[in-house]
Amino acid sequence: MTVLEAIEKSTAFLEKKGIESARINAELLLADILECKRLDLYLQFEKPLANKEIDKYRDYISRRGDFEPLQYVIGNVEFYGYKFKVSPDVLIPRQETETLIETVIDLINNDQHLSILDIGTGSGNIPICIAKGFKNSSVISIDISENAIKIANQNVIDHELSERVKIFKRDIFVDTKEGAAKFDVIISNPPYVSITEYKTLQKEIINFEPKNAVTDNNDGYLFYNRICQIAPKLLNKDGYLFFETGEGQSEGVKKILEQNGFRNISSRKDYLDIERVIFGQL
Ligand code: GLN
Repeated sequence: MTVLEAIEKSTAFLEKKGIESARINAELLLADILECKRLDLYLQFEKPLANKEIDKYRDYISRRGDFEPLQYVIGNVEFYGYKFKVSPDVLIPRQETETLIETVIDLINNDQHLSILDIGTGSGNIPICIAKGFKNSSVISIDISENAIKIANQNVIDHELSERVKIFKRDIFVDTKEGAAKFDVIISNPPYVSITEYKTLQKEIINFEPKNAVTDNNDGYLFYNRICQIAPKLLNKDGYLFFETGEGQSEGVKKILEQNGFRNISSRKDYLDIERVIFGQL
């Protein structure tokens, strides 16, 4: 079987299964196996595939046909120009979260030493991008999931940031010791999908991504309320709190920030013109 034949056959299979953008999925999965860029496949359409490559491709296509997200099948994702390992233990970093990183990097003077806290780290995409942007910073990340922390630590090692990024297991609803370290900046992309909306999401998300990374099993505001409640104890004076929010949540989250004593509250839109990042200063 040649590269082109494999792509065409797999595209037809994925289309039948109801996978969107079947051809691109088929190409990306094969490119991963052949360790080349998707467009480089076009230069080798006539190349025959080795049996090993065909077996692996069959497995990848069958998993994708069962709605497993492409990023879990190939085991990584590109985010903010960097590569991150992912598995079903962590949320797949989304493009809109790049707006959160951009906003923090834009707004904060990055020469001074900064102490940063990231709540709900997942794959570790946020602390890694922030540590790369702020060379004098140190980032503490927390997550409730031990398995997520394993992936995040792997990514920290891959990006050679073990000195400046540390990850701990914490549950923000129980572990809030008085006298905990103080931070200049807190960042969080919390699970903000309400339980009602969660039920309407794509199969890829419901069947594969960690539920507690997507929904708060509540009205979507549980984490914003809790983080705003504990942040004043964790932030230095004039410290900043940055949130990613879901579509339609910005006004609600601004109010929660206000009620907890934050000022200079403002927001940023993402690439789809949706209010995506809300931030305030203590
Ligand atoms: N911080 C990670 C991200 O932004 C994970 C977020 C989450 O699991 N809710 O992608």
